[in-house]
Amino acid sequence: MKKREFLKLTGMAGAGLMVSPFIACNDQPEHTGSDAENTGHDGATPAPLVFTLPDLGYAFYELEPAIDAQTMEIHHDKHHAGYVKKLNAALAETSDYNGMELEQILANLNPDHTGVRNNGGGHYNHSLYWKVMAPGGGSEPTGALLDAINSAFGTSDAFVEQFSASAKSRFGSGWAWLCVGADHKLFITSTPNQDNPLMTNVEGDHGTPILGIDVWEHAYYLHYQNRRADYIQAFMGIVNWNEVSQRFAGTM
Ligand code: MN
Repeated sequence: MKKREFLKLTGMAGAGLMVSPFIACNDQPEHTGSDAENTGHDGATPAPLVFTLPDLGYAFYELEPAIDAQTMEIHHDKHHAGYVKKLNAALAETSDYNGMELEQILANLNPDHTGVRNNGGGHYNHSLYWKVMAPGGGSEPTGALLDAINSAFGTSDAFVEQFSASAKSRFGSGWAWLCVGADHKLFITSTPNQDNPLMTNVEGDHGTPILGIDVWEHAYYLHYQNRRADYIQAFMGIVNWNEVSQRFAGTM
C-alpha cells in the first residue's frame, strides 16, 4: 500500500496531517524490537510501529582494546541510526507489517521488500550485537548453554573455532550467528548483508539467533583494516555470555 492510501484508510488524509506519521509522532512509545508489547490490534487498522535507536548500555570506549571508541560511535550513531530511520520510512510505504513487532516483521517478511529487509534486518542485528558484547567480557559459557554447546559442537573450543571460521569465510558483508533451531539444538550459520535466520521466507538456515558478529568492514576496518580474523578473535574475548545464556533460555 502506498502512503497516500494508508493515510486515507487511517482517516488522516484531508485533516491537515499530510505528513509522515513517523515524523509527527515523537511521543510514540519506544520499540527496539525486543521489549515492547504489540498493542496494535483493537479493531481499528493498526499503524506500523515506530522503531527507535536503542542505547548501547555502555560507553563507546568501554569495549577497547577489542573495538575502538570511534568505530563504536560511528557504528551505533550513524550506521544503526540509519537503519532505524530507513526502516520507519520503508514501513510507511506498505501496510503489510502494520502492528507487528520487529521479530514478527522479519518472520513474515516479503523478501522483495528490500527496504524492510535490509533495514529491519539491520535494526534487529545491531540491537542484538550491542547486547552480546560487554566491557571486560572474558566470561565463558556455563550451565544449560554450555551443555548445549558441548552437545552440538563437542567442546566450547570447537564451538569458537567453528563460529570464527563461519565469520571469517562470509564473503563480503554479513554476519555469523549462533542459533537455536526448531529442534532446540544449536547451530552456526552466516548470512549476507543484513539478512538473518529469523527471515523464514529468505533462503538459508532458520532459527533464533542468540549470538551474532557483524563482519561488515564498518565494524572493524578503522582499527583492524583487512585483518578480519584479528577482529573476530578480539570479539570472542568480549562476548557477554550471560546475555547469550538468557537468550538461549528464552527459546526453551
Ligand atoms: Mn554494522
